[in-house]
Order: sequence, then structure tokens, then C-alpha cells
Amino acid sequence: SPYAIGLTGGIGSGKTTIANLFQEYGINVIDTDAIAHQLSAPNGLAIPAIRQEFGDAAIAPNGAMDRTWMRELIFSDSGAKQKLERILHPLIRQECEKAAAMATSTYVIFVVPLLVESGNWRERVNRIAVVDCPEQTQIFRVMTRNNLSQEQVLAIMRAQVNREQRLAAADDIIRNEGDLSAAKKQVYELHQQWTGLAKAH
Ligand code: ATP
Repeated sequence: SPYAIGLTGGIGSGKTTIANLFQEYGINVIDTDAIAHQLSAPNGLAIPAIRQEFGDAAIAPNGAMDRTWMRELIFSDSGAKQKLERILHPLIRQECEKAAAMATSTYVIFVVPLLVESGNWRERVNRIAVVDCPEQTQIFRVMTRNNLSQEQVLAIMRAQVNREQRLAAADDIIRNEGDLSAAKKQVYELHQQWTGLAKAH
């Protein structure tokens, strides 16, 4: 299994934006959010278990998980959230390992929003890279992108580890606050460094 970087960061920090820059260097990026989405899409691998656990109401007519229904259930029922995670997390991990086994690049990047929160992921990766920006920037970006209120964004942020805790777990930090050219320069330098580390591994 290839040398593995775990890329994380708070909501709106720019994980996807940064991961795309590594992809331009030919690096295989494995995005856990995208995998979770596929698993619960029509004919997704998680659909049978979701139907069994939550009943037919959890599945939309197109055969995907009914996201609105599930969001509302989870909002009022933390036990339901745990049940869904117990279905999804092992499948996400399994799909990640499949993708990593097929990877062709010198190293791979797993994009994991809650990596610092998850002991399993921390153990799995060779290095943790944190995409960082000021909290005000996160709030502004997510309000703009998702059309949410400041309070709604803050509620999501409160459910994640804080900026200091995340930075404390980082082997590498990518500062993504200004224009993208500053981020591109950091990505170039990290790509050189990680290529060297992966080859020596
Ligand atoms: P999430 O955790 O919500 O999935 P993310 O960490 O993957 O978010 P992105 O989706 O990459 O973050 O970025 C969030 C938003 O901020 C996007 O609309 C993106 O276009 C914008 N953005 C990211 N980086 C920058 C930047 N350096 N300058 C301006 N806008 C940016």
C-alpha cells in the first residue's frame, strides 16, 4: 500500500481546492466525502444496510438514501447518527483501501474532514497535512458557498475540533487564506518533499 498523506482541515478551509492542486501533479486523491456520497447514492453499497436499519422511509424513490429525511432524523437523534456512522465508516474505509491499492502515484492523499477526530485514520496515514485559514475566512466561505447563516456555520464548526487542536496534530500545514497562487507554491514544495519521503519509505 502506497505512502499515505491524510489531508484534513475545518469546514471551508479549502481541502478540496488544495487536493485538486495535488491531482494536477498526477497524485491519486481519495476523497472520503465523495465515497460516502457514492455509498448512499442509487445502488450504493450502503443502501441495503441503511434500509434494514432505518426502514423504507430512509430510501428515496430513486433508490438513494433520502438525505433530507436522514438529516432531520440525525438532527433530533444522536443515536441514529451513530447507527448511520456504524454502517458508513467501515464501508468508507474499505473503499479507500480499494482505491489506495489501485493507486499509481508515488504517494496517495486521503481527504478526511474529521481525521484529527478519528483515531483510526490517524494511525492509517504516514503524515497529517492540515489546510488552515482564519475562522472568519471559513465562516465567510461557507456562508457564501452554502447560503447558510453565521450561526449555522458556527454550529458545524463547534462539532469539529478547534483550529489549535487541528494544528497541533499537523505534520505539515498549508495556509490557504490569500489568493490561490500562495497555496500553489506551498503545494509544489510539499509535493517535492512528500515524493522524497515516499521514495525513501
Ligand atoms: P468542506 O469541508 O465544506 O467540504 P473544503 O475544506 O473542501 O470544504 P473547499 O470546498 O475547497 O473547502 O473551499 C470552500 C470554498 O472556499 C469554496 O467555495 C472554494 O472555492 C473557496 N476557496 C477555497 N480556497 C480559496 C482561496 N484560497 N481563495 C478564495 N476562495 C477559496
